[in-house]
Amino acid sequence: MTTTLQQVATEMQANAVVDGLVESLPTTDGMSAQAQWDAVKSWLEEQVKPADFAAWLSPLTLQNKNGTAVTLAGPTKFILSWVEQHYAPKIMEGWLVVHGEVMKPTFAVQPVWGGMVKEATPEAKDEGADRRQQSREAEPVAAAASVEDERLAQAGEGNRLDPRYTFDTFIIGKSNQFAHAAAQRVAKEGLNALTSGGMVAGFNPFFLHGGVGLGKTHLMQAVGHEIVKGRPQTRIRYLSAEQFLYTFIRAMRDKDILGFKDIFRDVDVLMIDDIQFIAGKDATQEQFFHTFNRLVGMGKLVLLTADKSPHELPGIEDRLRSRLGSGLTVEMHAPDVETRQAILEHKAHALHMQLPDEVATFLATNINSNVRELEGALNRLAAFSSLTGQEVSIGFAKEQLRDLLRVNARVVGVEDIQRQVADYFKIRVADMHAPKRDRAIARPRQVAMYLCKQLTTRSYPDIGRAFGGRDHTTVMHACQTITDLMERDQQLTEHVQLLEKMLSGK
Ligand code: ADP
Ligand code: MG
Repeated sequence: MTTTLQQVATEMQANAVVDGLVESLPTTDGMSAQAQWDAVKSWLEEQVKPADFAAWLSPLTLQNKNGTAVTLAGPTKFILSWVEQHYAPKIMEGWLVVHGEVMKPTFAVQPVWGGMVKEATPEAKDEGADRRQQSREAEPVAAAASVEDERLAQAGEGNRLDPRYTFDTFIIGKSNQFAHAAAQRVAKEGLNALTSGGMVAGFNPFFLHGGVGLGKTHLMQAVGHEIVKGRPQTRIRYLSAEQFLYTFIRAMRDKDILGFKDIFRDVDVLMIDDIQFIAGKDATQEQFFHTFNRLVGMGKLVLLTADKSPHELPGIEDRLRSRLGSGLTVEMHAPDVETRQAILEHKAHALHMQLPDEVATFLATNINSNVRELEGALNRLAAFSSLTGQEVSIGFAKEQLRDLLRVNARVVGVEDIQRQVADYFKIRVADMHAPKRDRAIARPRQVAMYLCKQLTTRSYPDIGRAFGGRDHTTVMHACQTITDLMERDQQLTEHVQLLEKMLSGK
């Protein structure tokens, strides 16, 4: 790949010289890298079919520009490898035509949280950010060699909000209408307080929790967008908890705690996503606690998300726990089938994709885990259909989504698992519920508990109840024991894998 790209670059440069193009091309014009990429993107948009642009190029964001290389980030490996194979030369061409620079694109998977300094408003850039920006630029390229360093370098001083995550694009259904209304209220109160110079009270912090892929990040960022819309100079920092963590670790490493505090000094709205990642990390938690307390104390709006409610989050200090829950806490639920269908239709429209009603119904009925999977399925269909020119039909969907549908279609219940495992190890199903402790029975029971956790969506307490009213800690212990044993016990591993296969029908 590298040599091909270099060849293309040299060739393109040579051609450009031959054509006398180089002189006429605009040179680097003091545009920020971000603005440059935006311009290249617009050029690309004119070059490729709209559906291809939407499927492959539109999701790419600029992560880094360094010398003669740009790193573009995209949401999945699948998309990136496709882009790399099919559009890398086109991207290079774009950069050359639009900016007169030879840039080699490299690609990095990056979940939606992005990784860049918020550039939208000049006010958002405090001197601290400028200083950090300079010191980052001064770092030799090789400094970001290790994965760890790269993460640290990426662990931004804040991120741009994802432009797609607004209230407009959020589909409301029974499962999320309350969270949606609450988020709108928070945006309104926040905006009022900020414009009147007052304090945000009552809804602070706004704490959204719920399972993965249910729209927490989307809704939280929608609040941010709404506030920026009403008051463009608002200083917003959005960080994943992981970024918060890495930013903190980097500050510790560079002995720059003041710099760390700078990052949060001037914010009006702070958003930290997935704070379950801070749990159990004591020093970071402590720092988070101070940051958070100070901001809420000053009446700044703080928005948080996590996979569990504050009082269910493990590894969090009690004083932090109660502070986290002291504002407005709202849970998000999995969308029902109508909402899933509405989301699909909306996304298909955004992708300029023809999605027949029956296919939308089929997908909404059969993919019921979370919105992210639903979206992934749709993206995949859009991509394959634009590649092969095939129309999207139920048959086509079944074919292209075989893996996803199988996992979703086969619903395994706790009883199935108990029966199958008892059968396999030749014990009685009743032993799954009985208090017996001898190894010959206890081990299969642990395997069954482990499989319940793996193959169903039931919680630890739920599973415990289904096993003769055992405590959730017993189930957790069972899962841990089996996980540990599987690392060294080949035979047990085979048993578990075989059972898993039989149960999930794979
Ligand atoms: P979470 O943060 O809860 O894991 P996200 O906010 O990242 O979930 O949502 C996953 C994906 O599903 C995102 O692309 C988001 O835009 C989309 N999504 C989730 N809920 C909705 C909704 N109600 N309407 C439209 N898109 C949604
Ligand atoms: Mg999220």
